[in-house]
This record gives sequence, structure tokens and C-alpha cells, in this order.
Amino acid sequence: MSVQRRGSVGFLGLGVMGREMARNLAAAGFTVRAYDVVPGAIEAMAGTGVTPAACIADAAEGADIVISMLPDTPQVQDVVRGEGGLLANLPRGRLYVDMSTIAPGATRELAAELAKVGVRMLDAPVSGGPVGARDATLTIMVGGDPAGFEQALPFLQGMGTTINHVGASGAGQTVKLCNQLICGINLQAICEAFALGRACGVDLAQMREVLMGGSANSWMLETLGPAMIEGDTSAGFRIDLMVKDLRLVLGEAQQKLVPLPATGLVASQYIDAQAHGEGANGNQALFRVYDRMTGRPTRPDAAAGPA
Ligand code: NAD
Repeated sequence: MSVQRRGSVGFLGLGVMGREMARNLAAAGFTVRAYDVVPGAIEAMAGTGVTPAACIADAAEGADIVISMLPDTPQVQDVVRGEGGLLANLPRGRLYVDMSTIAPGATRELAAELAKVGVRMLDAPVSGGPVGARDATLTIMVGGDPAGFEQALPFLQGMGTTINHVGASGAGQTVKLCNQLICGINLQAICEAFALGRACGVDLAQMREVLMGGSANSWMLETLGPAMIEGDTSAGFRIDLMVKDLRLVLGEAQQKLVPLPATGLVASQYIDAQAHGEGANGNQALFRVYDRMTGRPTRPDAAAGPA
């Protein structure tokens, strides 16, 4: 059955999230030309309906909208300002939507530079992880001018279900950083509860089930809880990316003189995980920090059982 084409997308960054998002856009009927610096990432898109592009300009050529899903601020700056980048290759009137999580201030600078050449830029970071990306159920928080948001909306609806315009340029990134602050601290709280429950001899799988029925439930407990209990550290959302996000949170807090003591503490624990070689593991590997602090699960001598 042929799918009616709805518009064209240049997609940049085919990693854990981007490959699923690009595939969903193609499945939703958009023409998608995609580029990644890693050739294998482009080759892996074979059979998904996504057309490989040779470079940024090739992906962007003739596209109604260019979308990027890149690791961090420097990569987005490079894609915009670097040789062969969007500043030089997007004609006036086009729309660029960056869905990576990057610094709000850097987003505002890039949006201002692109505006000078007649290109609108929106920041539209996401929440929902690889599962949300795969199922096209992402939460998308959008900053930038409202007319650009209206223009981008049909494309964003190909990737997510909860899509909100939250303010001017950079506001999407700010909301995303607040999201990450909550996720980081929430996961730390679960690690602490699991560390205590385990030391007291409670069955963690049963404890998780019980907690999910009460006011302590959360996306983290539901989604990452089983992997924490089973010691499955596969990513997912990598520790490296959370360290990056919490660095961005603390950078904003420093600029705005907002003390965030809990974020500072949990950021140190994520750095502890990174320093122990866990950067490529999923966020649930934060529990290993508690393994080390409590000497478990490798210290059976520590008395377990009801106090
Ligand atoms: P990833 O590292 O898996 O993917 C990024 C991709 O960008 C890689 O394939 C890389 O080769 C490519 N890339 C780097 N520089 C490039 C360039 N100049 N041009 C083209 N491609 C380039 O990262 P990810 O997990 O997909 O995350 C992407 C962004 O989304 C990050 O900002 C992350 O914080 C955010 N995010 C991730 C998740 C998650 O669960 N993984 C969830 C929400 C948000």
C-alpha cells in the first residue's frame, strides 16, 4: 500500500533516539533524508523508509524542516555554524528544530544567528527515552516563536504525543533541564530505598510492586526498577548523558543564583558512576554507586534481616 507523502524532513543524528524518531517520521508519511557522522548509523536505517544523506547539506536540501538529535551543545553548534552547516545551507524561510538536550543560552544564540539569515529555529527537547522514541509517544517541550511551533507541529506529532509550546527560544531546554533534575533526584531516591530495603532483607521485586501502588510510584520506579534489581546496566539513557544534563542544570542555576543542593549531590554520584567506567551504562547503573557505598551485594557478612 503506498503512503501519501506529507512533507520532507532532513534528519541529523541517528543514535539511540534519532534512529527511532526518523523511522517514525518516515512511517507517518514524511519524506526523510538522514545524516550521521558515523556511517554505520546511516547504514542501519536500511529498510526503514529513511533515505541516506551524504552530508548535512544533502539532508537539508529541499527539506521543509531540518531536525537534529545530537549528543550535546558542541555538536549542535557544529551542525549550525561548522563547515557545510545549516547557517550556510538553509535557504530563507526554512525551519530548524533541535530536539537534543543542550544549554538554553547556546540555543538562544544559535536561534538569533539563524534568524539573521531568515531561518527559524525551535528548541524541542524530549522526554520518554528510547521506548517513547520507538513508540512515537515522546513528550516534547518546545521553545521559540509560536508561528514556528504551528509549522513544526505536524512533524512533531509523528514522534510524540504530549507536545507543548512552553515559551520563547530556550524555554524548551529550560523545561527539559527541570525534567532531568527531577529524574536524577528521583532515581537517587529509588537507589537509596533499594539499598536500605536490601540491607534489611526485604525482597526488592516485591517492594517495588508495593511502592508502585502508592504515592512513591514514578516513571523511574516502573521503567528502571526491574533492571536495577536484576543488575542489568544496558542503556537506554546513558550515565554520560545524565552527567551532561546535570552539568547544564547546575550551569543555569549558577547563572541565575538558584541553590540546588540536591541536584549538586546527585550530580556527584553520577560522576562517581562515570569515574568507575559506567558512563556508557544506563542510568539504572546509579545503583552501583550504592553497591559500592554499602559493600553490597558482594558483602554477605553485613547482617540482613529485620532490625
Ligand atoms: P546518541 O549518542 O545515541 O546519538 C547521537 C547521534 O548523533 C550519534 O549517532 C552521533 O554519531 C551523531 N552525531 C554526533 N555529531 C554529529 C554531527 N555533527 N552530525 C551528525 N550526526 C552527529 O544520543 P541519544 O541517546 O540518541 O541522545 C540524543 C539527545 O537526546 C541527547 O542530547 C540526549 O541528552 C537526548 N535524550 C536522550 C534520551 C535517551 O534515553 N537516550 C532521552 C531523552 C533525551
